Amino acid sequence: MFAFGLSEKTHGADIYSTDMLLTPDGDGGFRATGSKYYIGNGNAAGLVSVFGRRADIEGPDGYVFFAADSRHPAYHLVKNVVDSSKYVSEFRLEDYPVGPDDVLHTGRAAFDAALNTVNVGKFNLCTASIGICEHAMYEAVTHAHNRILYGRPVTAFPHVRRELADAYVRLVGMKLFSDRAVDYFRSASPDDRRYLLFNPMTKMKVTTEGEKVIDLMWDVIAAKGFEKDTYFAQAAVEIRGLPKLEGTVHVNLALILKFMRNHLLHPAEFAPVPTRLDAADDTFLFEQGPARGLGSVRFHDWRPAYDAYAGVPNVARFREQADALCEFVATAAPDEEQSRDLDLLLAVGQLFALVVHGQLILEQARLTDLDEDVLDELFSVLVRDFSAFAVELHGKDSATADQQRWALGAVRRPVVDEARSGRVWERVEALSGAYEMAP
Ligand SMILES: Cc1cc2nc3c(=O)[nH]c(=O)nc-3n(C[C@H](O)[C@H](O)[C@H](O)COP(=O)(O)OP(=O)(O)OC[C@H]3O[C@@H](n4cnc5c(N)ncnc54)[C@H](O)[C@@H]3O)c2cc1C
Repeated sequence: MFAFGLSEKTHGADIYSTDMLLTPDGDGGFRATGSKYYIGNGNAAGLVSVFGRRADIEGPDGYVFFAADSRHPAYHLVKNVVDSSKYVSEFRLEDYPVGPDDVLHTGRAAFDAALNTVNVGKFNLCTASIGICEHAMYEAVTHAHNRILYGRPVTAFPHVRRELADAYVRLVGMKLFSDRAVDYFRSASPDDRRYLLFNPMTKMKVTTEGEKVIDLMWDVIAAKGFEKDTYFAQAAVEIRGLPKLEGTVHVNLALILKFMRNHLLHPAEFAPVPTRLDAADDTFLFEQGPARGLGSVRFHDWRPAYDAYAGVPNVARFREQADALCEFVATAAPDEEQSRDLDLLLAVGQLFALVVHGQLILEQARLTDLDEDVLDELFSVLVRDFSAFAVELHGKDSATADQQRWALGAVRRPVVDEARSGRVWERVEALSGAYEMAP
């Protein structure tokens, strides 16, 4: 069993400030002293990769990643910091001997290894969200459809249909995005680092979509979602954690903003990336190299994915908003002073994230021949989301008059089609009774 020892109690996301200190022992090794906090499996892992810095070297050259053994007498397990059966440890090293063979990386390479490991960890969270939502959805639809109020099933209420249909298409979007992001992750190379945008998106966008899916369904099934013999009660708790781990939503949004200009305005040529379900050895993921230079990462043009579905009314409507965002970046982008106002920038980041979310959804829709009713309904949700974030940007303290005007001008109403919504609803209804976990 392995553990990854990066976080510390007092520093959170600020890993530059690590207090795990290594003192050279004169024999090519070190003595390590310091503590780590929030470390999964730190109670039992045979190898705990630990991030620290040399006490005798200032700056990035002093970083060290080394392997510790949780059974060593100088490794002190302090406690489980969570009240749960999973073990999220606090541990302390006291004069722990780090031999030359235990040193994994030094200097900038150690810092890069920390970020590159998190790149992989980030990726796994989307699948957790999807699994939680999928299971909870079977339960929620089954419950709502079979509960009779005032002589009719709860699913006869229009607002309940809207909530469950929105949850359904949001979940479809989560799956399409994540599946397509796999292709870019596994096809990555030193010359193709597009995954550095798509992975944080699987992290912050897909997992926050998961929260929305559970919220929508919980509003429908209400008290049922507390019961101990449901899966839902567990889903409602677990879904909250995923956006907060492997970097918070803010940290990941701030990260993806670095790619916005190149992604929206300066596309480059790339060979098409196929679906990657093959059994290749993903060696690059273990040697991703320097973590810096994000501002120079290039992307393929996002427009063809949208053009391919220009005939789907809500894809076309959302495209208007995506084009408007390009105009915003070109003409009304935050100035020097605003670029320090993360509150404003995060609202912009949410708009950008929606365009990228839509892009990979469309790419995967094409590869898997997704039903166009479902796609249309899904994009009607994205149109509403974009409008909501535009209104949020409009209300930000430091938004300029031009930015406020732009924001309200980017609000759109989705294209309503009752027949389409009815057909999508039939898909949702069909989930009733379709799956129950073996007791
Ligand atoms: C169950 C669980 C398991 C975990 N497992 C591990 C593990 O195995 N190994 C490990 O190393 N860590 C682990 N962690 C730690 C986890 O990765 C951190 O909780 C996470 O990175 C966020 O740090 P924080 O909660 O300390 O928030 P902080 O970093 O204290 O952030 C506080 C606030 O400031 C904001 N903020 C901070 N920096 C920035 C920035 N640069 N830009 C914008 N906003 C910013 C944040 O978004 C947040 O709102 C685990 C945590 C939990 C709860």
